[in-house]
Amino acid sequence: MDLHLIKDYLIEHVSTIQVGLYISIFTTLWVFEHCYSIEPISHKWKHTSLNALLICSALPLQLVMTLFLIALAGWVKSHHWGLIYLLPNPSSPWTKYVLMFFILDFLDYVYHRTMHRVAPLWRFHLVHHTDPKLDVSTTVREHPGETVIRSLFLFLWVFLTGASVEVLILRQTCQSFANITSHAAFRLSPRLAKVLGWLFVTPNIHHVHHHFQLPYTNSNFGDVFSIWDRLFGTLTELPAQETVFGLDTHMDESIHSNYLGIVSMPFRKGNRSSADEEIKRG
Ligand SMILES: [Zn+2]
Repeated sequence: MDLHLIKDYLIEHVSTIQVGLYISIFTTLWVFEHCYSIEPISHKWKHTSLNALLICSALPLQLVMTLFLIALAGWVKSHHWGLIYLLPNPSSPWTKYVLMFFILDFLDYVYHRTMHRVAPLWRFHLVHHTDPKLDVSTTVREHPGETVIRSLFLFLWVFLTGASVEVLILRQTCQSFANITSHAAFRLSPRLAKVLGWLFVTPNIHHVHHHFQLPYTNSNFGDVFSIWDRLFGTLTELPAQETVFGLDTHMDESIHSNYLGIVSMPFRKGNRSSADEEIKRG
């Protein structure tokens, strides 16, 4: 079979393939979570619908940002702009895909730490942390403001590195898989988690990031790879029975469990001091 034909087909149908994969993995894990839980399905639906409403609000913004991103990636390619063009062999698959993948994952780690460190950014990111129950739907619990901030950071990373559309697509696919699985409601067995966790972010690692109290909230920032947390000393462990999801500064159910309460969260006066306190303590 002609490899070029397969490559062309994949590039042409990339959005359909990505959405199809995302929905399949999401639905499979959602059903598994339901089968292994004693929680009534009506509660799970309610929780999922609330988080889904957030991604639906952010979707138009995400679409516009993606168009800008594709245009920017085209510009850096045509102008041979960015770090990759300073390297000896920028068109080799090892540089273009493997090295760039690692660099972009490291930059995502930087992004995530920045969102926790800078007070005005934390006010948007904390929305993701205020989910009192972690399951696959928490993956899409993101304030539309963070969708814009995340895209602006990605523009900067593409401008600095010269990342191609192809590596961005590859990364987006792997990132979606990693994000959905790391938010799933169950952890891996200790042995499997230990082996996979040397390189990858597992649910066992990411669940600790969603513990309601510091210092755990400010640890385990990795996206696909766990190596950055190891390298920079931000990796922590906490047994499942001691992990409590949510955020200690935002435990008011009337706010974190309704749509208007969530979208207004970054702008609430009372929350500002809590957010600043979080930064100060972090
Ligand atoms: Zn976070």
